[in-house]
Amino acid sequence: MNFEQQPKSRNIVAVAHHASKSQREQVLGHRGMVVWLTGLSASGKSTLAMGLEKRLLEEKIVAYTLDGDNIRHGLNADLGFSPQDRAENIRRIGEVAALCAEAGIVCITAFISPYRDDRARARKAASTGQFSEVYVKADLATCERRDPKGLYRKARAGQLPGMTGIDAPYEPPESPELVIDTAVASVEDAIGQLAGYCLERVSLKR
Ligand code: ADP
Repeated sequence: MNFEQQPKSRNIVAVAHHASKSQREQVLGHRGMVVWLTGLSASGKSTLAMGLEKRLLEEKIVAYTLDGDNIRHGLNADLGFSPQDRAENIRRIGEVAALCAEAGIVCITAFISPYRDDRARARKAASTGQFSEVYVKADLATCERRDPKGLYRKARAGQLPGMTGIDAPYEPPESPELVIDTAVASVEDAIGQLAGYCLERVSLKR
């Protein structure tokens, strides 16, 4: 866990834990990590995140998904989709994900997270080596065809300003740890690839 930001108030002093990270890893039987999925709306982030979470739990790996819409009902209910709010949305998620990984679990995040700088900040919040960026890639035409929430249809009709890929930018990752092209790979194959990658990374034998 890295503390990048200066607290707003003075007299804030970080307290040391009495238990070590390796003690927590021994209890759980694996390491923690952040699996940061990024990609256009309807690229498949939620589908893959939930599938991966289930698969990892079956393998006795404690995993939990932070999903865009769920978080916007709670922690980030006060945020909209302006560039500033999007940045704050991702900042908070990055901090929560890093805390989860520090606690020893695999935290899977499923957010469009369209801006490189925001994703870089999320990476910085996590401990070194505990953050993997996964580009869930699908071309816009494929995403528009799927459109499970009808968002592209609304955006094309002018009823949803600021839709990523339509009238708001998406900055693809430049060096993600993993790329999954969901226009090519099936859901099953994509989850298999992701699970294989994660299992290797969280193993204590590594
Ligand atoms: P996002 O979270 O990126 O907005 P969702 O997972 O909510 O995307 O929606 C993706 C849609 O595409 C789902 O309806 C899913 O069933 C469908 N889909 C089709 N092929 C794939 C694939 N290979 N990987 C992931 N999703 C796929």
